[in-house]
Amino acid sequence: MRIDIITIFPNMFSAVLDESIIKRAQQKDKVAIFIHDLRCYSLDKHHKVDDRPFGGGSGMVMQAGPIFRAVQAIKRKFKGRAKVILLSPQGKSFTQSYAKKLSKCSNLIFICGHYEGVDERVRQYLADEEISIGDYVLTGGELPAMVLVDSIVRLIPGVLGDKNSLNFESFEGNLLEYPQYSRPAKFRRWSVPEILVSGAHDKISAWRKSEAFKRTRQRRPDLLKKIG
Ligand code: SAM
Repeated sequence: MRIDIITIFPNMFSAVLDESIIKRAQQKDKVAIFIHDLRCYSLDKHHKVDDRPFGGGSGMVMQAGPIFRAVQAIKRKFKGRAKVILLSPQGKSFTQSYAKKLSKCSNLIFICGHYEGVDERVRQYLADEEISIGDYVLTGGELPAMVLVDSIVRLIPGVLGDKNSLNFESFEGNLLEYPQYSRPAKFRRWSVPEILVSGAHDKISAWRKSEAFKRTRQRRPDLLKKIG
């Protein structure tokens, strides 16, 4: 997979991309991630990429020109189709199944907005999808882009060491994951459930399933409705 991110704050990304699993995924050539400074695609001598909104109002709007030029230049770098994603609080809500769908794409291009957002023509004529990471407003699309990269890249086959860790995690089959414990078996006054140290794998598996249902019923009954 190849991911290109267009931003006016390229330095924000190293903390996430140069650490841990995402770093290793790049080292293992599972993903190649490129950060593009939008200002390089400005024709303005001061590298301006925003302007006042037509019709008045507060704040600035990111102009269409630099964003269109950046996407066109990126698309010329490889063969095949790329999905262009605009990060926006008005977009479709991002979910685990959305991450799964995107993890099967070969090329993704993320556009990070700022200020009051981006010129509507980017949404209408350039972006294939518009994605929100939740019903709240952030100052820019960089954190949402990092959230998407992290959740998508870990789903690429071979990125996580143990593929079982993907099979049993939260949101798989619309369930939250069962409670997890590690050593020591007794910490202060609290012991781990006895079944987990019994070595009886069938019983452990049944216990985990029932805990997953219990937990989902308590915390996210909306998910259970999707199971039917
Ligand atoms: N004025 C816009 C509105 O009310 O819809 C909000 C603009 S926001 C301050 C600036 C940029 O941050 C957006 O263009 C988008 O790229 C990003 N952003 C903010 N919140 C987001 C969210 N929940 N999901 C995805 N992107 C978000």
